Amino acid sequence: MIEFPFPYLTTGTIVHGCGRGSKELGCPTANLDASSIENLPSEIDEGVYFGWAQFLTNNNDELYKLVASVGTNPFYKCKVKTLEVHLMHNFESDFYGEKLKIVLLGEIRKMTSFKDA
Ligand code: ADP
Ligand code: MG
Repeated sequence: MIEFPFPYLTTGTIVHGCGRGSKELGCPTANLDASSIENLPSEIDEGVYFGWAQFLTNNNDELYKLVASVGTNPFYKCKVKTLEVHLMHNFESDFYGEKLKIVLLGEIRKMTSFKDA
């Protein structure tokens, strides 16, 4: 069941981040451009969320389960809040520049830091 205040809807173009999702952590996160955060309610907690994603730009109408992070990645002490999305699917290639529509359906946990990567 979807509980208040969900769902949250937004869209964004996939931009380059620091590249550590796949290289350092083994989990690529498609970083969405700043407008994707601006379209979320400003009171949204920094944390990890689940939901669904769909591409708007590559003639692929598949729905993908997602896990998303909203926040400043405190372990890496980033200054800017980002929305980063891991799609639960093995893709054959990168898809920078594509546009994603996402719906966040619930929260998994609040943003936190860890003692190592
Ligand atoms: P960056 O710091 O540039 O975001 P990442 O290491 O986090 O780099 O990798 C993210 C990129 O990997 C995405 O922009 C996308 O092009 C690609 N990618 C491949 N598979 C996935 C996936 N399952 N979920 C998210 N991004 C993926
Ligand atoms: Mg990333």
